Amino acid sequence: MHSQEPAVLVTGLVKRYGDTTAVNGLDLTVRRGSVTAVLGPNGAGKTTTIETCEGYRRPDAGTVRVLGLDPVADAARLRPRIGVMLQSGGVYPGARALEMLRHTARLHAHPLDVDALAARLGLDSCGRTSYRRLSGGQQQRLALAMAVVGRPELVFLDEPTAGLDPHARRATWDLVRDLRADGVSVVLTTHHMDEAEQLADHVAIVDGGRVIAEGSPDELCRGDAGNTVRFQARPGLDLQTLLKALPDGSDATEPSPGSYLVEGTVDPQLLATVTTWCAQAGVMPERLAVERHTLEDVFLELTGRDLRG
Ligand code: ATP
Repeated sequence: MHSQEPAVLVTGLVKRYGDTTAVNGLDLTVRRGSVTAVLGPNGAGKTTTIETCEGYRRPDAGTVRVLGLDPVADAARLRPRIGVMLQSGGVYPGARALEMLRHTARLHAHPLDVDALAARLGLDSCGRTSYRRLSGGQQQRLALAMAVVGRPELVFLDEPTAGLDPHARRATWDLVRDLRADGVSVVLTTHHMDEAEQLADHVAIVDGGRVIAEGSPDELCRGDAGNTVRFQARPGLDLQTLLKALPDGSDATEPSPGSYLVEGTVDPQLLATVTTWCAQAGVMPERLAVERHTLEDVFLELTGRDLRG
């Protein structure tokens, strides 16, 4: 594969289930060696998109290229090169956990060390337990181990930490970081915004079957949805002069007596405008703080705060 070629290139993807349009013209590029998080409310089309990239679903329109190949037509060539987290449908419930992992490892030319992988995901103690007797979190970790044991070039992880305890969650994060350090491309979906913030180089927010915003977590949080400056000073300051000095699109309010809030694109210049204004007004801004929007703020802002059916 050409080194400049993206790991995943999705263009104009459409996927319908009967009357439901699950994916509606979705574009997504996953750079090689990067971690891309696909976020979106329930029903946004994330799983459908991932399953189409994995070759389990055929697009109704648009194109999908994974490592330069067509996931359906070139499935036989692609499968050994990608790691997929199968949910319970893909396993034999009676098989023992570690045997399944060893079996999967043997299907690959250069697998990871099975015992080391099992140990780091806390699966070593349940090696002789049958799949059906594993806890939900253990099944989840086994699915993750099976996805990565073959040293794939690209891994798809659909909600890899859903239902995991905090230790297992951290172990999963460390594993994803190590994959990235080894040059593996990772595509993951998650409902945990902190997870995306911690792990992702690139975040794509999906809503209604298309990508509505994307960028690095930093870019998305810095976006002109803006950040805030808060400070406290004596109540009742005349904010008109501050508003005049601030750039267009900013706002300055006193939500409660003596508490001031400046909203806008917070950069050094804006901060200087605020402190200069304070100096001219002869007030000391107490507890001056610049507050960044979190990815969760941005997500809720973009996808609407209402719970939708
Ligand atoms: P979640 O965060 O809840 O996992 P998602 O973003 O992964 O959601 P999808 O599972 O891709 O969303 O579902 C997108 C839409 O397609 C939903 O409206 C869902 O009900 C519908 N859908 C998904 N799979 C099927 C199917 N096999 N048959 C019919 N409709 C489906």
